[in-house]
Amino acid sequence: MDEKEITCIVCPIGCKILVRRNGTLCELVEGNKCKRGAEYARSEALDPRRMLTSSISVIGGKWPLVSVKTTKPIPKDNIFTVLDVIQKAKVKAPVQCGQILLKNVADTGVDVIATKTVGST
Ligand code: SF4
Repeated sequence: MDEKEITCIVCPIGCKILVRRNGTLCELVEGNKCKRGAEYARSEALDPRRMLTSSISVIGGKWPLVSVKTTKPIPKDNIFTVLDVIQKAKVKAPVQCGQILLKNVADTGVDVIATKTVGST
């Protein structure tokens, strides 16, 4: 059993929430001022996830890179694997904002999409 203090980032108040974890169970959550904070703390203790933003090389584009993001938060443990795939990827121009550039990246079930348009040279 382990205890952990988590700062809630759901709203600007930033409550310090104490969670006690027992394996795959979250047994105690205290310090939250609302239900959303309890849900955030449980999820952060048991399955922490993050949205990822980065950029991918563009071949034949007006710009050498296109900014990208994951369509959903990915497990925190997979961040470096996903970043590695993104850094090695190259896409051909033109790229449309919202276009899926990497489907099911690193078997996370999450796609990586462009967050801007890059036209061809
Ligand atoms: S627990 Fe509720 S009130 Fe506290 S920071 Fe999180 S969302 Fe805001």
